[in-house]
This record gives sequence, C-alpha cells and structure tokens, in this order.
Amino acid sequence: MKCAVNNSGYLLTVAIITAVFWSGCAPSADTLSADAPSADSTSQGALPNIIILLADDLGYGDLGSYGHPTIRTPNIDRLAAAGARFTSYYAGAPACTPARAALLTGRYAVRVGLPGVLMPESVEGLPQSEITIAEALKESDYRTMAVGKWHLGHAQPSYLPTANGFDDYLGLPYSNDMIRPWVQTDVPLRMHGNDGPIEGEVDQATLTTRYTERALQFIRESSAGAFFLYLAYSMPHLPIHPAPEREGQSRAGRYGDVVETLDWSVGLILDALEEQGIAENTIVVFTSDNGPWLHLPNRMLQDGNMPWHAGSTGLLRGSKGTTYEGGVRVPAIIRWPGRIAPGQVFADLATAMDLLPTILSASGVAIPDDRTLDGESLLPWLAGEAPLTPPSDRVFFYFRGGILEGVREGKWKCRLSRQTDSLELIPEGTEMVPELYDLELDPSERYNVASQHPDVVARLRARMAELEREILGVPDAG
Ligand code: MG
Repeated sequence: MKCAVNNSGYLLTVAIITAVFWSGCAPSADTLSADAPSADSTSQGALPNIIILLADDLGYGDLGSYGHPTIRTPNIDRLAAAGARFTSYYAGAPACTPARAALLTGRYAVRVGLPGVLMPESVEGLPQSEITIAEALKESDYRTMAVGKWHLGHAQPSYLPTANGFDDYLGLPYSNDMIRPWVQTDVPLRMHGNDGPIEGEVDQATLTTRYTERALQFIRESSAGAFFLYLAYSMPHLPIHPAPEREGQSRAGRYGDVVETLDWSVGLILDALEEQGIAENTIVVFTSDNGPWLHLPNRMLQDGNMPWHAGSTGLLRGSKGTTYEGGVRVPAIIRWPGRIAPGQVFADLATAMDLLPTILSASGVAIPDDRTLDGESLLPWLAGEAPLTPPSDRVFFYFRGGILEGVREGKWKCRLSRQTDSLELIPEGTEMVPELYDLELDPSERYNVASQHPDVVARLRARMAELEREILGVPDAG
C-alpha cells in the first residue's frame, strides 16, 4: 500500500532541505524523514529500486571524478566512489532523441524509427510496439515515474511517457532551446504533466529545482514498494540556467554553476534514499545523453548564449553531433551497494543499450526475446560473478542520424564518415578515407593507423556492412 504524503509538510520539508543545503550544512535525517514513510526494502529478495539520472549534453570531462579541474561535483563523485565508474561507456547516439530512444528500449534508434532529433512540430514518436524499461518493470508491479525532458514524441497521446510505461510524468516534452529566438516555432515551451501542458511558458531557472522536488516526492511516496524513477534533467543543454542560489558560485563560470546545480540535485536524491532506508537496495545510474554541444549553429549564439556555455569532452576528440568519441562517450556511473562492490573503474566497452537488460535482470523481469536488443546485462560482470562477453565480441556502432559511420570492437575503432570534427561535410562523390584508431593507446583519436592494419579495417568494415544489411536494408556491395 502506498503511504500518503502530506503536501504542505512535504513542501516545508523541501524548503528546509534547501535552506540547510545552501547554508553549507548537511541536512539531518530527522528533518528529511519527518513526513516520510519508512520501509525496509533491503531485506533479502526485495526487488531493487531503479533510478536513472540522465544529464543533457554533459561532456565526458565535466565531472570532478572524470578529471574536470574546477567544476565541483562532490555528490556525483561520491556516487562513483561507492559504485562502478565507466571510462568507455557510449550513449546510443550523438544527439538527444535517438540517444533516449536507445537508452529506454535497449536498441539502436534506427531500429526504433527515431534516428533524428524531434522538433516542436514533429509528428513522429516512440512506437507502441517498443518495450521501454518502464513498461518491462510494470510486469513486476514497479511504480514508475518520468521527470524531465522526454523528447520521444508528443504529437499523439501514444507517444507520451504515460503511454510508455510511466505511471506519472512531469517535465518538458523536448529540448529547452526549442523556442524563439533559437528555433523558429510558435509552440510555447511548457511544463507537461501526465496528459499534456499544465501551465504557461516555463521559467528555465526553476527547472532543475522543480524536477528535483517532484523526484523527491515520488521517492518518498514509493519507498514502501519497488519503484523506477527516470529523471532526465534539461540541463546543461543550452540555454543554460543554474538554480538562482547557485549563480556565480562555481569557479567554472555559468556552465559550472549549472553542473553544480545538477550535483546538488543528485545529492538530495542520494540523501533521500539513505533517509528512507533504501539506499542499499536501490540501483542508481548517472549518465548523459550525448557529448557537449561545442560547434553551435549561429542560431544558438543569441539572447545570452555564449560559445563557452558548453561542456568539455576531456581528452576526447569531437563533440555532440559527431561520431568521434566526444560525441557519444560520456560519463556513466552505476551504484548498487547490495550487489556491486564500491570503487570500481571499468575501461571495457559498455553502452546505454546495456541498461535495459542489466536493469531487467537485476529486477528478475524477463528480457524481451521477440526482438533484437543491442545490449546485454552487465550485472554478472559488475557484481564480479562472471566475465563479460569477450571484448572482441562486444561492439558499438556509431550512428549519425540514420547513417552508420563507425564501429568499435574491443580496442579498435573504424570510422568512415563524410563529417569532420567541426561538423563540416565532405562533398558527396569525394572518396571517404577510412580511419582506424586504437582507443586504448590513443583515446583522443589522433593517429589514424588504417594503413598499418588493413586486415582490421577490412574486418570492421565487414561488420558495418553486416549491420547495414540487417537494419538499414543496404544491399551488400560485394
Ligand atoms: Mg542531449
């Protein structure tokens, strides 16, 4: 049975948490749990709770635990220290919509039919035939909620979160720049609830705080049973807006303020799990949907946006929109104190498509076998119970929109693209030069060693051709 939460008490509690946090002190357990139901979900056999925290356009180099010199992310870093941190984790695509489609379905976005970014006037959306993580967990009576940016369709009720496995929703239907002057649309950017818009034009400075408050409420209301929270922050996607309390606080400027606002939010969520007594049996994932937006179109450079209002790829080449590593390799952390030993760093290939099978196997839910999934459960590997599939059998395919531009197999990456680092396109008809990188030796993709390893290039190109035949229906050229 769900325990009711007293709304006025809840709001007071949030206000107290916020005030205590901003004064620099840790909130006490008594303060936070005053209204909340207590639950013992840590007993043997209880289904784990699942939380996915997804940042938008956060780069590989933007967190303290991934080497940023001035952005402070102590809460995300403590999550990493208490779990597994990945250094070769790939988002499903270098852009928002296809990356989210891949994460929630465990399949490349081209299989889902959403290879491109949806706009306010778009009529496409997540097909009902797809099975999201939330839909699968409903088989096991999980309570589910999506908070934040959806971006998997909004033109029809069947595309909305509440038609795709989520009991409840609060957030923006697409990116926070999809409004004038940056995007020429007359559709206002409005907060949506379960059935559609719930109010007028949104104040973006309130977004992260509102998402966080709603997420905390959901955790408190749901902690007596198993739950799945998908919290997809709208930040640090341009235009960036820190919480007003964090403005001017970061040594890394306004972008740093925004990432530190996210870190504050993550801290409150981790604290809430402790106070509810459910941290031990809750899987928390923190990651990003794609790399930072470093090559801005001119339309974005107005109304206060600056070129440096974007993150860092750290040592990686490329950025959002490209199939170089900086477009898709992003921070990823998984913590599950009950099963995954703390302090682990994994350098082997993992992807967003692994999340669905990993989460379903952790929850004892059958993994769909009537369709091709592009990931596998990482759980035996993370828990130290069994080796992962041999690296040479694990591959990641790099898509730019509907175009397959590369593949990684073990340490090797082959790339064949018309697009340069700075998003310029080589004219059609120009012969494309294959690129081959040893990503263990050369994670920055500086040294093309294709001419030294023609056999590897041939093998990887054959793997790409095989997938193109399977997914895209491209006939075999020979
Ligand atoms: Mg994004």
